[in-house]
Amino acid sequence: MTHYETPAVPPRAGWDLHCHTVFSDGTRTPAQLVSEAVERGLHGVAITDHDTTAGWEAAEDAARAAGLPLLRGTEITAEDDGVSVHMLGLQYDPRNVRISQLFATTREARLTRTKRMVARLAEDFPISWESVLDQVKEGGRTTIGRPHIADALVAAGVYATRSDAFAGVVSARSKYYIPTPSPTTHEVVRAVGEAGGVVIIAHPGDLSRNRRLLSDAQIERLVDEGLDGLEVWHRGNPPEQRERLLAIARERHLLVTGGSDWHGAGKPNELGENLTDDATVREIVRRGAIPMIG
Ligand code: AMP
Ligand code: FE
Ligand code: FE
Ligand code: ZN
Repeated sequence: MTHYETPAVPPRAGWDLHCHTVFSDGTRTPAQLVSEAVERGLHGVAITDHDTTAGWEAAEDAARAAGLPLLRGTEITAEDDGVSVHMLGLQYDPRNVRISQLFATTREARLTRTKRMVARLAEDFPISWESVLDQVKEGGRTTIGRPHIADALVAAGVYATRSDAFAGVVSARSKYYIPTPSPTTHEVVRAVGEAGGVVIIAHPGDLSRNRRLLSDAQIERLVDEGLDGLEVWHRGNPPEQRERLLAIARERHLLVTGGSDWHGAGKPNELGENLTDDATVREIVRRGAIPMIG
């Protein structure tokens, strides 16, 4: 194993390893992700749409054409003892049956649950399942979720922006909310590992997503099972959480990554606002099952 030094401070140049496109709840295409990354002088990006690989091919084509290095990944919806957890699976073999089944199951569950939420909301607001589907850019290839409900509420004039809708009736605290049945974090670590990929907990310190965060013990158990790293540099992690996460990362020799969680116009997050250093990306590529593009 090569020597990996856990970074202590956020890098000022490097890669954005957390980016969404129209294949989930981002508003820009994979080609627009690549062109914006080039404009901003990023060393490379990872495409990480929710629970799918549907955008990979378009991202690969654009990255090759632009000469921009690309990692391929997915932000995977999971659950750990009542805590909703997002995990970044990177550089795994997309042909692996267990992981593609896991995504298919989650997308189906998301669809059922999102339809049920829309049915509840439609009793009080001028939206319908059809008006939500109007907000979905790649049809059946897009992973559907609450952001598309939010966009339908904006289109209906109920809210001015997607973020306003999330502060209102689309929130996880609203009476209309229904959670997505998800695989456990343990299942996700196993599936990504079996598919030869690298698995990282996304925004582990983000209290706006959960009343309760993963405890040190919960994180440590995942490390024992094969977790590779923690996304420390993310706008959702406050300073004291970054300190806590870095301490665990140092102790357990974890990879430390950063990403913007870019959603195009769907969130204020700017592409490249948080970065991963080149040495960490090299280690991810070394551990992964598929080559880096470019
Ligand atoms: P879901 O997975 O369907 O429950 O929807 C959650 C998704 O909504 C997350 O992946 C976020 O990207 C997005 N989201 C959460 N909060 C906000 C917000 N305040 N503004 C815009 N998008 C948000
Ligand atoms: Fe999202
Ligand atoms: Fe997330
Ligand atoms: Zn994300």
